[in-house]
Amino acid sequence: MARFILVTILLIIIARVFWRVVDGILAGVRNEPPRQVKSGVELVRDPVCGTYVAPGSALSLTSGGGTHYFCSEKCLAEFRRKS
Ligand SMILES: [Zn+2]
Repeated sequence: MARFILVTILLIIIARVFWRVVDGILAGVRNEPPRQVKSGVELVRDPVCGTYVAPGSALSLTSGGGTHYFCSEKCLAEFRRKS
């Protein structure tokens, strides 16, 4: 009987340690920063043709309404002509 109690206590200790480890792993997973779907570059829409462009590599024009980005010189010229 004493052996049964000992085994039970041992199992409880093992279970507690096990869950502490699992909790630690889960906490570690939760603390990870959320994975970004995109490569981190926010794309902006070319107002002329509707193409999405990366501001870093696109042509830009700053006007009263903000900065506009264009896929090509042609779209930039088109936008200038309209406004
Ligand atoms: Zn364009």
